[in-house]
Amino acid sequence: MAKCHTQSASEVARIFNMKTGTALLIRSDRKVLRRNIVSGKWQEYRKIKEGVSVEAYIAHRMNDHSGGYWVTLKRGMIPCFDVISAMERNGVAEATDGCENIEPDGKCLHGYPAWPLVAIHHCLAG
Ligand SMILES: [Zn+2]
Repeated sequence: MAKCHTQSASEVARIFNMKTGTALLIRSDRKVLRRNIVSGKWQEYRKIKEGVSVEAYIAHRMNDHSGGYWVTLKRGMIPCFDVISAMERNGVAEATDGCENIEPDGKCLHGYPAWPLVAIHHCLAG
């Protein structure tokens, strides 16, 4: 598990992709961490390329809508895995944009996936 802060690095931003359910945490030492939906832990994902500032990286992500739609990650936006499992069991789920009462393997009217669907994709992708 990677730490959000170290002695020499602090957290700069947390962003969230509503299309894929991917959450990234960007640190001042240019490391990008990705949150694992199943474990709820942050894992090392990549390092920002030389010559690209942390701010430019974040701005690029937020402005690039081709790979989904990135927003600032807020506390409580991602349900814990127990809640996602319960959605799957009950057959009623919530989408990444907060829409309720959708199929666990479906999408809401706005095209955003249900959390159980996101979890399955994260499991497959590792
Ligand atoms: Zn929706």
